[in-house]
Amino acid sequence: MSGKVERFIPVSKPALIGREKEYVLDCMESSWISSNGKYIGLFEKGFAEKIGVNHAIACCNGTVALHLALLALGVGPGDEVIVPTLTYVATANAVKYAGATPVLADSDPDTWNIDPESIEPLITKRTKAIIPVPLYGHPCDMDPIMDIAKRHGLCVIEDAAEALGAKCRGRPCGSIARISTFSFYGNKTITTGEGGMVVTNDDELAAKIRILKGQGMDPKRRYWFPVVGYNYRMTNIAAAIGLAQLENADKFFEKRRTIARWYNENLKGIPGIRLPVEKDYALHSYWMYSVLIEKEYGKSRDEVMEFLSGNGVETRPFFYPMHVMPVYEKENRTWLKTAASIASNGINLPTFYGLEEEDVKFISGLIKGYGR
Ligand SMILES: *Cc1c(COP(=O)(O)O)cnc(C)c1O
Repeated sequence: MSGKVERFIPVSKPALIGREKEYVLDCMESSWISSNGKYIGLFEKGFAEKIGVNHAIACCNGTVALHLALLALGVGPGDEVIVPTLTYVATANAVKYAGATPVLADSDPDTWNIDPESIEPLITKRTKAIIPVPLYGHPCDMDPIMDIAKRHGLCVIEDAAEALGAKCRGRPCGSIARISTFSFYGNKTITTGEGGMVVTNDDELAAKIRILKGQGMDPKRRYWFPVVGYNYRMTNIAAAIGLAQLENADKFFEKRRTIARWYNENLKGIPGIRLPVEKDYALHSYWMYSVLIEKEYGKSRDEVMEFLSGNGVETRPFFYPMHVMPVYEKENRTWLKTAASIASNGINLPTFYGLEEEDVKFISGLIKGYGR
């Protein structure tokens, strides 16, 4: 070995610290490597229990989980679906896959989630559903959203991809809406490499989703396809990893909350660094620990990212709001200013299971020293 040891702290990193290898080897040795096999059912059952819902249906990623949810609810061409402009692109894309139009809503300045007050003015005769997204893990305030949906006869799908472990008034994210979806991409709180889950308490919707994810085949008649379905299945290998991850999920949630506490302690009081909030109703999953870089700090968000990167600390900027994306801006003529300002100032700091207190102190020290 030669060369100097350089510190590099990634923004995210999976923690394969449990029985992942053992379960995957079991798939290999038993030759159950495709989308049949015991791990799929075990992962689904364990996941449903964790969220406290009747049904969990595994699929190949979080984006198609949203597509399945929309299809099961009958969302299609001519329909409108209200989504936050500030979200990962998958939320809006899935609406497009279903042939419907995403209608973009502005954000709450504190939680960065869809502002419930921005929803009602967007409702038209075509509106079919609302997709709240607990951004970076802070739960949406589901009460006003569910209330609006009820009054207008709309469905709610929670895109809880970033909110595994989060709670809204004591209820797990993913257990409140008619259907909710999760992602198990490599950087999510638990991972299967690529993977997703659709959860619901509704038996009929669950049955529909299972049919749609398996090419539309009639469960009672092999090779008979009454509807056009998709191959959105998860493999047994992915589910094996997922089951092992799920066994450590509580440990992962707890560590993320500890990391957030470390950051809060070390970053508090720096002028122009706005820390993430955790509202009274909320238990944050801290999928990402994120801060806003405000004017007072004296340096721009991009300058901070570059400075940290030069010191071996990887970060991510916030998502661009959908209303500035070339593919979505044409449909949306309003400038959603709260979301736009959050997006241009927001930065995700390293947040992952293996992160140590010393790392958080190092990162926080850099941020403290760099401002004016
Ligand atoms: C990760 C994520 C998804 C789904 O992502 P996949 O990569 O398809 O698993 C959807 N919505 C949000 C908000 C996400 O963060």
